Amino acid sequence: MLPCNGAAHQSLLRTTTPATVVPLPRYVEIETSRKCNRTCSWCPNGEHTARRTQQLMKWELYKSIITELGELGFDGWLAFHNYNEPLLNPRLIEEIALAVSSAPQAHPAIYSNGDALNRDLFERLVVAGVEYIRITRYPHQADTPATFEAIQKWLRQAGLADQFPWEFRTVRQGFAATTESGTVRVEVISPDIVGTYNTRGGSVTLLPLHVAQRTTPCLMTSTSAVVDYLGRMKMCCCVYPDIPDHRGYVVGDLNDATFMQLWESDQMNAYRTAHQAADWSLSPACRSCTQPLPETRL
Ligand code: SF4
Ligand code: SF4
Repeated sequence: MLPCNGAAHQSLLRTTTPATVVPLPRYVEIETSRKCNRTCSWCPNGEHTARRTQQLMKWELYKSIITELGELGFDGWLAFHNYNEPLLNPRLIEEIALAVSSAPQAHPAIYSNGDALNRDLFERLVVAGVEYIRITRYPHQADTPATFEAIQKWLRQAGLADQFPWEFRTVRQGFAATTESGTVRVEVISPDIVGTYNTRGGSVTLLPLHVAQRTTPCLMTSTSAVVDYLGRMKMCCCVYPDIPDHRGYVVGDLNDATFMQLWESDQMNAYRTAHQAADWSLSPACRSCTQPLPETRL
């Protein structure tokens, strides 16, 4: 499940030394599993086989990351995906439970393609403590227009159509149905792929997605931290380390370093400084990136 944004959330400041103040991200994305069942042509998973195999993040590694985030008082959104489909992960409920107990100020979120979601799993996610669920109903072809019918069809299929009062509206990605129930907010989106999707830092090559010379700053490296299923922290969610051009954007390995050591590393700090000035000399992948997510801005 590819999209990686959440609502803006208050970030904390952590002082490492009197001279160094690095804001915590407001959004953390951890791929606790590897597999996606789809091969969308607007995603690098459509061009590479890396995500066709399931593999869970080592439990001890996940636990250490969550424990550290809890100790830091991380209070932003915590999502369980990037290029994986989180609902294929048989351990997901246990992972959410650990996040709720060990990082209680964080806000767990699920971003999914919805193929594996039914009412029973939906209720288990809510009981476990998920506060935001976004289902993106991808079509099979990129040029399929967004429709409210696609959303309604899926709501009926998942057994959720009559469960809540849904509000249907236009959103940045296309059309959406949204609802709020208790502490959870749910969005089901039918996306306009050709009009709103990007090439994920050049890793999508087979589809004529929108590209443009990027001249505006990107704050993604200041607002968002991304860790893949092996524990590698990446420059941003667009990075797909399985392709040679993106390997250099791996900042480090959480098996050998703490979250904060990597978040505050020279490499991340160099990206932040450069990207705030729209300087892409350290990261050619950014040059034609049209990523519109809220995390690219303040
Ligand atoms: S469902 Fe999401 S992660 Fe999977 S291939 Fe499609 S866009 Fe990529
Ligand atoms: S401009 Fe660079 S850092 Fe920002 S989202 Fe695009 S690839 Fe990532």
